[in-house]
Amino acid sequence: MTIGKVYLVGAGPGDPGLITVKGLDLVRRADVIIYDRLIPHELLSETRPDAEKIDAGKAQHDHRIPQPQINALLVEKAQQGKMVVRLKGGDPFVFGRGGEEALFCHAAGIPFEIVPGVTSAIAVPAYAGIPVTQRDVATAFTVFTGHEDPTKPESEVDYPALAAAARAGTLVLLMGVTYLPKIVEQLIAAGIDHNLPAACIESGATPQQRVVEGTVNTIVSLVLAANLKPPALTVIGNVVKLRNSGLDWFIPER
Ligand code: SAH
Repeated sequence: MTIGKVYLVGAGPGDPGLITVKGLDLVRRADVIIYDRLIPHELLSETRPDAEKIDAGKAQHDHRIPQPQINALLVEKAQQGKMVVRLKGGDPFVFGRGGEEALFCHAAGIPFEIVPGVTSAIAVPAYAGIPVTQRDVATAFTVFTGHEDPTKPESEVDYPALAAAARAGTLVLLMGVTYLPKIVEQLIAAGIDHNLPAACIESGATPQQRVVEGTVNTIVSLVLAANLKPPALTVIGNVVKLRNSGLDWFIPER
């Protein structure tokens, strides 16, 4: 039997129209689709009727399939000669464990391809009317994760570097709603300008999108008051103000 192949495909965030032409073509042809929680679920209706669909979704405290098992599953299905699409929210290489899964395939001798996706780090701010860069406003953007508890001693996040990056650029925080109070506290302790505008976007690029806007000082209490839940990301920087200068184009359905 000829060996199959694993395609690590970025599905884009929220809006199902944000997947690439190449990604959609693979979704339509795949024998097996192993998908994550944050993919636009409309894409699953694009699969072949006989395709095997496996939900590998990982809610924070409800790991449906542990990572080692996902890795093993990719290899096992490909060894059966299957065309496997591993469909991930946003881009597979942006906090998506795509690198780990590809390395696992490589080690097992399974051919693989990467199909980049539109990352939420850029597209979700865009759907809230926030460009991550803008001439004279932000000359760089930094994407970081708040997945880990920032007060744990082995935290790898360099808060002083982030506070410095916020002087001339935009910060985009993924996976950080739960720990937002602690992360903002660490940024302030590291000397970030606490009057910088900040926005938190829940379920971006979907009909349920909600945006809470304030400053570094106020964002935590505003997010708590609005009870924002994952998936959400936070943008910090003067680009946030552009939203109120006419860029807020997307009207979610209510
Ligand atoms: N690979 C993905 C990111 C995975 S980490 C990408 O490139 O987009 C998951 C985090 O992405 C979430 O915790 C949240 O911070 C962010 N995210 C993904 N989809 C989102 C959405 N529709 N709205 C807001 N944040 C989103």
